[in-house]
Amino acid sequence: MTRHTEQCNLYFDIHQKQVKDFYEAHPNTCRTCRGFGFIDNPDPYGAKTIDCPDCTAKERCPSCRSHTEYGCCSECGFSESSDPMILIFRVAPPPFVCVCGRKEYELYSD
Ligand SMILES: [Zn+2]
Ligand SMILES: [Zn+2]
Ligand SMILES: [Zn+2]
Repeated sequence: MTRHTEQCNLYFDIHQKQVKDFYEAHPNTCRTCRGFGFIDNPDPYGAKTIDCPDCTAKERCPSCRSHTEYGCCSECGFSESSDPMILIFRVAPPPFVCVCGRKEYELYSD
């Protein structure tokens, strides 16, 4: 069923493993926003991003899912203003981007 190039399939496998490893190491990280705490706004006329409906919008920490207020988590230290270099270790890999131009894999991201 895959019609991607061999190289693309290889990259996809590597990506799948990275995602799997990440969530094994960080099982509580929110999968909707990948730990960022916000998602792209589906409304093109609204703000660029909105609070993630599965964590921050419910006052949950994107990283550990414990209750949090004002975007700061007392459990794991997550803060919306975290240093981007710290944040980078807390967020899941970005969705897979096909390198051969086929679209099917978009369905498999996350
Ligand atoms: Zn989230
Ligand atoms: Zn937390
Ligand atoms: Zn491809």
